[in-house]
Amino acid sequence: MKEAREIWIKGLVQGVGFRPFIYKLALRHGLNGHVENNNLGVRIVVEGLEENIKAFVQNIQKEAPLASSIESLNEIDIPANGFSDFKITPSRSLSGEITEVSPDIAVCDDCLRDMKVQSHRIDYPFINCTNCGPRFTITRALPYDRPMTTMASFKMCGQCNKEYSDVLDRRFHAQPIACDTCGPHYFMWDGGKEIADFGPLRDKTAHLLDTGKILAIKGMGGFHLACNALDEQAVSRLRRKKNREAKPLAVMFRDLEQVKKYLHISEAEESLLQSWRKPIVLLKQKLELPLSLSRGLDTLGVVLPYMPFHYLLFEKLKTPAIVLTSGNLSDEPVLISDEEARKQLAGVADAFVGYNREIYNRADDSVAMVVNGKTRLIRRSRGYIPSPIRLEFDAEGIFATGAELVNCFAMGKGKQALMSQHIGDLKNPGTLSFYKESFERFKGLFRFSPRQVVADLHPDYLSTRFAEDLKLPLVQVQHHHAHIASCMAEHGLDEKVIGISLDGTGLGTDGKIWGGEILICNLNTFERLSHLEYIPQPGGDLVTHEPWRMAVSYLVQSLGINETQKLYPDLFPGTSQAAFETVMMMLDKKLNCPETSSMGRLFDAVAALTGICQFSSYHAEAPMRLESTVTEGVFGVYPFKIREGDISVIPMLQEIVKDKLSGIPVGIIAAKFHHTVVKMVVKAVHQISRHSGLKKIVLSGGSFQNRILLENIENQLVEKGLRVFAHEKVPSNDAGIALGQLAIAAKRSENRKSE
Ligand code: ZN
Ligand code: ZN
Ligand code: FE
Repeated sequence: MKEAREIWIKGLVQGVGFRPFIYKLALRHGLNGHVENNNLGVRIVVEGLEENIKAFVQNIQKEAPLASSIESLNEIDIPANGFSDFKITPSRSLSGEITEVSPDIAVCDDCLRDMKVQSHRIDYPFINCTNCGPRFTITRALPYDRPMTTMASFKMCGQCNKEYSDVLDRRFHAQPIACDTCGPHYFMWDGGKEIADFGPLRDKTAHLLDTGKILAIKGMGGFHLACNALDEQAVSRLRRKKNREAKPLAVMFRDLEQVKKYLHISEAEESLLQSWRKPIVLLKQKLELPLSLSRGLDTLGVVLPYMPFHYLLFEKLKTPAIVLTSGNLSDEPVLISDEEARKQLAGVADAFVGYNREIYNRADDSVAMVVNGKTRLIRRSRGYIPSPIRLEFDAEGIFATGAELVNCFAMGKGKQALMSQHIGDLKNPGTLSFYKESFERFKGLFRFSPRQVVADLHPDYLSTRFAEDLKLPLVQVQHHHAHIASCMAEHGLDEKVIGISLDGTGLGTDGKIWGGEILICNLNTFERLSHLEYIPQPGGDLVTHEPWRMAVSYLVQSLGINETQKLYPDLFPGTSQAAFETVMMMLDKKLNCPETSSMGRLFDAVAALTGICQFSSYHAEAPMRLESTVTEGVFGVYPFKIREGDISVIPMLQEIVKDKLSGIPVGIIAAKFHHTVVKMVVKAVHQISRHSGLKKIVLSGGSFQNRILLENIENQLVEKGLRVFAHEKVPSNDAGIALGQLAIAAKRSENRKSE
């Protein structure tokens, strides 16, 4: 007896080889019918014996392609039609609902093999298949089909067309299918010379890199600047030219073996580094690497080859490692067009390597680390974007504008949050236009029409201004509440929790600068239970570049004006007397000294006080260097005071000054400082948990990018019998804020409806 079934699959099922997979599976189970992609997902109609259909459905779940993810699978019984075979039918657009766009996928092993044996793809750097290749970065619209991508302008040759149409071929319906005859090609511009022949181009690229030159190379989601990572001179020259004096640079190693030679790597880090997403992974340094790579830090951002071009290049390179940093000028968005790159990076790169396929959606490399065995994202972009975060509630039509310094936005589509790629610091005009452009593109791609907008409480954030300009109903959300809500949304929490929100800065409801906060909250409201004791921030935002100002402020609070005066110039060798006196006067007269409870500023103060970092040249440099200084195996702590409503670190600061003056090594001071912060947070939270009976603790905020804080706070709270939730899917820094804003706005409008 023949049965017939219609099967709907939603999730990440397009652009990941899903239809060919279904086709082969149907043949294997002797089923007839058809499969199609539409903007709701994948629709399958099968006819055959009941037991075969059953096995077929089970195997869909079991054997689905690597990069796919099935969100839902629904079956409907239908009358049999008497199909005589199984077909893949053309894609259709059915409604305003969308399905997912696949993130970009690193080139697969099968393609790397084909690249050495298929005559039309020998060393062809755009080789791809249904399981790998560019996706999001080349997609203009949905459904995901070749005419909707930037491959549209390349006409398939007979050979490619045959493979594309052959269901048993690995490239069946691989939309970016290409070969040496019909596909895109690389070009090199070396001085006045243009090289279009790939052999000489590759040799020249390798030679220039090996001999210390800087190259701009077009990647998957934008240009990179590259140089030999083991050549100190080349690296410092790149830094000088790019005007990036200290910020750490990412390094691509030839293979895992080379990574292991230079860096410590755990099993979890190894599998993250090799995953199809190929993020940059932060690893601890083992062997001496050029100082300029990661100035003052003990970690290095490491990535493995992910484009065919990278593999082909390393075949010719003598060096096993190249710097691969974003191809842009300081804080501008990464460049994506050959012309723009050649124009803007003319003063930086000695030669340019581009190709004639357009990058439509910009995407930087993602950055991640592993803490307590889990992946923690620092930057969520290529390889992750635009996969949605699943929500427990409906967020349709809500646009969350994010924060300002490390911006990402979010759009609510049903029970999904679509997070943008890493955008960056909106104060930069180029980045702000990228934000606006990306907003328009996401709207188009995902057929999103905003009905409500949500922004930070800070009136001056450019994201808040953008929200106001949309002239839609506006909700404003406190920064640290949004941080906690972000982590809650990620874990599907919708209840009262204790939130630990630690970061550099965020406007509080009392008009002061918050950042060391313990809240009791749900997705609707919050109550501030405890925070770091307020301290003046002399010069306001200026302290982020001049951490020494926070050191002076903490000293004045801890020792008084007179005692602090005596510590100049010994503890402040890099500061002019005039600047020091000015700050002392500001503190004395309370001029331009907003009050802050920021954890980031406390880290700044201690980094400056110990002489590790008195002036900082990039965001969060002082805390990062302080963490890198920590001597392992030192577990002492300094005194502190937990009072009703706040935590005072004045007793600790007094001890740190004593330690510093008596010549205790800074690594020991830094270690004791970290363990003190852990202890005081754990103690304060434990007290609040006992009083409130709440057992779920949620961690968020940029300070949790500090491995020592995250690892130890998490572990010690668990030891106290509490359940701890920290970020795994979105960054704990401000890039995750939009998800929290979205969750809060969705919850509030749900509450309004039910009232
Ligand atoms: Zn492949
Ligand atoms: Zn071809
Ligand atoms: Fe923040």
